[in-house]
Amino acid sequence: MGFGRSTLLWISENRWMREKIPNLRFVQKAVKRFIPGEELNDALKEALKYEQFGITNVFTHLGENITNLSEAKVVVNSYLEALEEIHNHNLNTEISLKLTQIGFDLSIEETANNFETILRKAADLNISVWIDMEQSDYVDKTLDFYKKMKSKYQNVGICLQAYLYRTEDDINSLMEFEPKIRLVKGAYMEPSEVAFPQKSKVDENFYKLSALMLDKLSTKNIRIAFATHDVVLINRIKNYCQEQNIEKNNFEFQMLFGIKTTEQLAMVRDRYKIIVLISYGNAWFPWYMRRLAERPANIGFVIKNIFTN
Ligand SMILES: Cc1cc2nc3c(=O)[nH]c(=O)nc-3n(C[C@H](O)[C@H](O)[C@H](O)COP(=O)(O)OP(=O)(O)OC[C@H]3O[C@@H](n4cnc5c(N)ncnc54)[C@H](O)[C@@H]3O)c2cc1C
Repeated sequence: MGFGRSTLLWISENRWMREKIPNLRFVQKAVKRFIPGEELNDALKEALKYEQFGITNVFTHLGENITNLSEAKVVVNSYLEALEEIHNHNLNTEISLKLTQIGFDLSIEETANNFETILRKAADLNISVWIDMEQSDYVDKTLDFYKKMKSKYQNVGICLQAYLYRTEDDINSLMEFEPKIRLVKGAYMEPSEVAFPQKSKVDENFYKLSALMLDKLSTKNIRIAFATHDVVLINRIKNYCQEQNIEKNNFEFQMLFGIKTTEQLAMVRDRYKIIVLISYGNAWFPWYMRRLAERPANIGFVIKNIFTN
């Protein structure tokens, strides 16, 4: 892991930095590159624009690792409101959340109650809910949680990370649940005991896992999302699908708001399914630091904002 990436990921998890840095005005300005605003309405406005281009969205109300269960109630209500507004605006938007945002560090039982409150409302409105994947310590219990939820509800998906050695086994263990899987490279600082330290190995594993899931399409009822901005990887996946005669509507690509927008539009013109994840809310600091860590050159944008009004 490069020095820039590891430093930024360390900062993302440092309590003092989490409290101080978000108050800096130039950081508040720089973060606007990745979030349309802090309010649900900001996300709704963007989603309405995206749908005109044939791109649908996933909303995330930013937040993680709450320390008091009363905070979870606020988060649950915010997602219930988001679901209601998605429905009122006639959008095809889905939602995605972190289990630690609704109490996973405090009580699995309460987390399940909170999650099911959201999931039931989403099911009534025919909307899917994705579970983000967090640090590797959470993977076992997140997968157990997902399997329980998926046994009861259809409308729930899970994120898996290609940087973890274990993910191939996890994909296989999920198959009997007819999962919806969003494959990502992985955004956290992980030790080499659990994750590939070299980027080239992560990229190769992403491709291998993509092919593995695509091969299962003919026999399993699964939904597959490749969530990456890596154009080389995307082209390899597209080529694999062509070679295997897999139709474009059998899989999807997901990207983040503010990254590779031109490519998103080109792909939708090419009849690929594209979903863009839009984040909003004021708890953006750790999430934003992970975005900087993905491309330390992004620091240039932050510095530029020190010198511009
Ligand atoms: C929809 C979605 C959901 C996600 N959910 C999770 C999750 O639940 N858990 C998790 O661990 N991770 C999640 N991630 C993040 C993911 O793990 C990666 O950290 C992130 O997508 C960057 O990796 P990449 O695949 O784009 O490849 P990279 O090799 O990092 O990037 C490829 C190219 O994309 C561009 N790019 C990538 N990131 C940025 C950036 N921040 N700023 C500017 N340009 C950039 C650059 O041009 C770069 O060269 C999610 C990502 C997406 C798109």
